[in-house]
Amino acid sequence: MRRVALAAALAVTAACSDVSAPPNHTPAYAYDLSGEIFHWPVGRLPVRYFADTRGPMRAYVQRALGLWEHQFLYGEFRATLVPDSAQADVIVTWTDSVPPDVPPDNGPPVQTCGGATLLTFDGSGTALATPIHTSLSVLASSATPGQLAACMQRTVVHEIGHTLGLPHSPDSIVAIMNATPLLVTPNDNDRRTVEYLYHVTPTIAPPPR
Ligand SMILES: [Zn+2]
Repeated sequence: MRRVALAAALAVTAACSDVSAPPNHTPAYAYDLSGEIFHWPVGRLPVRYFADTRGPMRAYVQRALGLWEHQFLYGEFRATLVPDSAQADVIVTWTDSVPPDVPPDNGPPVQTCGGATLLTFDGSGTALATPIHTSLSVLASSATPGQLAACMQRTVVHEIGHTLGLPHSPDSIVAIMNATPLLVTPNDNDRRTVEYLYHVTPTIAPPPR
């Protein structure tokens, strides 16, 4: 009976591989930060994120973390939101004004917001000294609240990509990690690059806890 069951399982596996190619893991763009490699080590998972409690930031960060976690097959990156910034590995805040919490506009992207992610190194230059800081800012423009919400949503995904250790992708390759992110979610180029990054030995250690 065991032999029959095994044969059946093998037949199913063969049938599956006939209809779907194995995923491509070749990085689509460079995954280093000027020659240095940063990613969260397994021992620091889940990475603790604090999101500004005002406006829609917490929802944006939660969505972005879910999207990035979803790029991995084996949970190489996992994150959790924490209520206290003193306990966080990554702190995400509004730079100044808090945009209204409205549904994002689904039309063509309008660049009406900006983001920045700061990695601060210790004296050795081989470890982060403090939590990673990300900030989101509203740029002066005539965009609608919905267009601003769409910009914030995709820019938070982009900045969270930096907090995973990803650099910018060249503009010649369409990705959420383009310097000006126009996608709504990470695409196949981002998936291949971040998957590869999380299987390379980092040269930069995470901040102390
Ligand atoms: Zn960026």
